[in-house]
Amino acid sequence: MLRTHTCGELRKKDCGKTVALAGWVSRKRSFGKLVFISLRDRFGETQVICNSDENPSLKDLRKESVILAEGKVQERKKGEDNKEMATGEIEVAVKKITILNAAEPLPLDLDNAENNSDEVRLKYRFLDLRRQEMKENLVFRHRVSQAIRKELCSKGFLEIETPFLVRSTPEGARDYLVPSRVHKWHAYALPQSPQIYKQLLMISGFDRYFQLARCFRDEDLRADRQPEFTQVDLEMSFAEQQDVFDVVEGIISKIFSEVMESGIETPFLRLAYKESIERFGTDKPDLRFGLELKDLSKLANDSSSDALSSAECIKCIVTGDLLSRKQADSLSEVARAYKAKGIIAINKENNELSGQFSKFLGDKLKEKLVSLSSGFEKSTIVIVAGKAKTVNEALANVRNELARMLGLIKKDVFKFCWVVDFPLFEWNDNEKRWEPSHHMFTMPKKECLEFLESSPEKVFADCYDLVLNGVELGSGSLRISEPGLQEKVMKVIGLSHEKAREKFGFFLDSFRYGAPPHGGIALGLDRLIAILKNQNDIREFIAFPKNKKAECPMDNSPSIVSEAQIEELGLKLKK
Ligand code: ASP
Repeated sequence: MLRTHTCGELRKKDCGKTVALAGWVSRKRSFGKLVFISLRDRFGETQVICNSDENPSLKDLRKESVILAEGKVQERKKGEDNKEMATGEIEVAVKKITILNAAEPLPLDLDNAENNSDEVRLKYRFLDLRRQEMKENLVFRHRVSQAIRKELCSKGFLEIETPFLVRSTPEGARDYLVPSRVHKWHAYALPQSPQIYKQLLMISGFDRYFQLARCFRDEDLRADRQPEFTQVDLEMSFAEQQDVFDVVEGIISKIFSEVMESGIETPFLRLAYKESIERFGTDKPDLRFGLELKDLSKLANDSSSDALSSAECIKCIVTGDLLSRKQADSLSEVARAYKAKGIIAINKENNELSGQFSKFLGDKLKEKLVSLSSGFEKSTIVIVAGKAKTVNEALANVRNELARMLGLIKKDVFKFCWVVDFPLFEWNDNEKRWEPSHHMFTMPKKECLEFLESSPEKVFADCYDLVLNGVELGSGSLRISEPGLQEKVMKVIGLSHEKAREKFGFFLDSFRYGAPPHGGIALGLDRLIAILKNQNDIREFIAFPKNKKAECPMDNSPSIVSEAQIEELGLKLKK
C-alpha cells in the first residue's frame, strides 16, 4: 500500500511514528507559511500540517485533490485538539507531499448538498458519494446486508444465484426484454423476481435458499421504486407459514441488534386482511398511531342527506382534535385524489355536534358520533361515504395525512405487522377478469378449494405481507406444488391450458418428479433500509440509481444504439 495508515486510524499512542497517509484534501487553510490540510478517506479525517516553503506545489492545490502525505505523528498543541474528531488529538507534521491527482473545481458542492439539484447529484454520482451522509448510507446498507446473510446462514440457508437472462414469465409488471442475437425474434427477459427459480431449487432438494436478488420491473417510478431493486429472497421446503415468519422475524431482530443497536419486539402483530381493511382501510396499515376507521354504514338511513342515505358504505375517523377549515379542506383534497367525493367534517364540543352538515344527521347517527368521540372533549370527526372500496382507500390515505398533520408520527418508531389471509384473486374491472392478488404460484387455502372454479371471490390464500410503518416490505406465500392445482389457478386467471403449457410447461412438469411442499417470501431491501433510516427515497441507499424517468444522467443510459447493433439483433426500429 502507498499508505501506512488510513485517515481514521492514528491516535495519541502513535505520536513519534513516521507515517504515510493518502486521501482527498477536504479542507485547506493557510496561516503564514503553515498550511493545515484535512485529509479524508473512507475511514476518517486526519489533520496534516505542511510548510509551504518546503512544499511549493501546495499553493495551487485544490480541495478534493488526492495526495500522499509522509511525515511524523505529533500531539496537537493544547487547545487545538478537536474532541469531535476521532483523530482530533494528533496531527501529522509533513515532510513530503506528493500530489497523486490534482482536482479541478468540482461541479457540485460537497459541503452544502442542498445546493445540488437531484439531476446534478446523479450526473456526478461518484462525487456525490464522497459526502459523509452518502458514505454512511452505503455503509449502513452493507451492514444490514451482512446481518441478513449471517442470520440466514446460521439457520441453514444456502446463498444461490439465479439467472438474469430468463424466459419472459410475467409476474404482474412489465418485463425488460433483451433481444437474442442468435435466435431472431426471441428475447430474454430480466427477472421480475427469482420466483420460479427458487421454487425449482426446492424441487432440486436444496431445502433452504436465499439471495439478495436484483429484480427488474419496467414500471412508472416513484420515490420508493427503481427499475432495478434488491429483494431479500428466500424459500424453504417443508415449511408452514409460521416457519417463514420465524425466519423473517429472526432477520429483522438480527438487523436491530447488530446494526440499529436496539431491540425489536417479536412476534410481530398479525392482522387478517379483512380486519386490516375494516380498521385501517388498507392492507398496509401504519400502526404508529391510532385513528382507526369506524363503520357507520348501518346508520345510513338515519340521515336526510342523499350523500349518506344512498351510500353503500360510510366510515369515519375520530381525529381527537378540532381541525381548522384549511386542514379539513386539505383532507378533502386527499379523499378526492382517491375518487371519493370529499370528506364531511363534523365538530364535537361539549357533547354537541356542529358543522354545516350536522343538520342532516338523525338522532341515532348523532348519538353514535358523540359516543365514538367520548374519549375527547373536543374532536373533529371526518366522514367519507360512497362505494366500500373508495371509502376505505380514501380514508386510509386521509388517516395517514391526519397523522402527519397532527404530528402523531414519531421518528425511530418501527411498527411491523403481518397481514395474513388475503383473497387469492382480485377482480380487474378494466379487463373484466380475475388476477392473482399476489402471484399465481400462491397456495389457495385448503378449505376454499371447492370454490376455486365456481366462486373465485370466496377463495382465500396462504399468503402474507410484512408491513412496516404503513409500507409493504414484502410478500410471500406457501406455494402450489401440484401440477393439476397450478393449472386450475392459471385457468381462473385466463391462461388456457395451451398458453400455460407454452409459458410454464417446464415449471408445471417439474412438479411431476417429487416436489416438496414449500413456501417463502421476498423483502424489499432498499425500502427496508430507507425506512430504518427514517427516509422514503430509496435512491439515497443505492450507489448508482436511476432518475424518475428511468435514466442515468451519469452514463446517459438508456442510450441510442448503433444501427449495426440493432441489425445484428435482427430488429428494425420504426423511425
Ligand atoms: N416473488 C415474490 C415477489 O416478488 C415474492 C415471493 O412470493 O416470495 O413478490
